[in-house]
Amino acid sequence: MSWGRRAAVAAALLAVAGCALTPATTNSSVSASQSPPWSQLGTSREGRPLRALDLGSGGQRVAVIAGIHGTEQEGQRHVPELISALAPLPATIRLYEDVNPDGSAANRRRTSAGVDPNRNWPAASFTAAPSRGPRPLSEPGVGHVYRDLVRFDPDLVIVLHSTASGPFVNFDGPAEGLARRFAAAAGAPWFVKPSMGYPTPGSLGSWMGRDRGRPILTIEFRRGAPEEETGPALVLGLRAVIREGPLEDERPRVR
Ligand SMILES: [Zn+2]
Repeated sequence: MSWGRRAAVAAALLAVAGCALTPATTNSSVSASQSPPWSQLGTSREGRPLRALDLGSGGQRVAVIAGIHGTEQEGQRHVPELISALAPLPATIRLYEDVNPDGSAANRRRTSAGVDPNRNWPAASFTAAPSRGPRPLSEPGVGHVYRDLVRFDPDLVIVLHSTASGPFVNFDGPAEGLARRFAAAAGAPWFVKPSMGYPTPGSLGSWMGRDRGRPILTIEFRRGAPEEETGPALVLGLRAVIREGPLEDERPRVR
């Protein structure tokens, strides 16, 4: 993307985020003009850094995860703009830049060991397979992100993917209301898809949502969608679900 086009998209995202003319507040740890203080969690199998960035303070703790599948760049490409868009929101946000940097560098879904990084988590549903690894967390990159997520202890996790049948929001754990809120804010043709329609043993959603009971949204952009389509939808959806306070209304109802 050209610098001019990147700047135009960034301006559009800032306008959507409602902070284009708003100076950095005490709630914003990063402004667009500063070099963001990324922390390095470790390195991938091929030695690429895995990085995360803290934005905002207070409220719920939200992990936003980009780049888990190396062929799904539709959301990950907006990470630079997300730094400015997320910082003013009333929450403690941890933004993961790219949790499969080897896959992204090679335009490959899986890691360099042929493991799907979204099947290598210590979920109760994990079973060993060449595509899932010999054991949970056998991929160094997944291990670094797993330990960081345990330490961060998020109230809500949002993961960016893409698929030919998108755009839609899938979810695990007590997140149906949040999924509906994201899809409504992102606008047509976004919809909520409660099940992917196939088993996902060892997935991040299985571990975080089903086993730990934390709401997790899987954001599936339409594969190949232009950034003018994906950027505003992403920011509007994130603004709709990231808010102050506990997510009590998302807990399962006791009848
Ligand atoms: Zn994916």
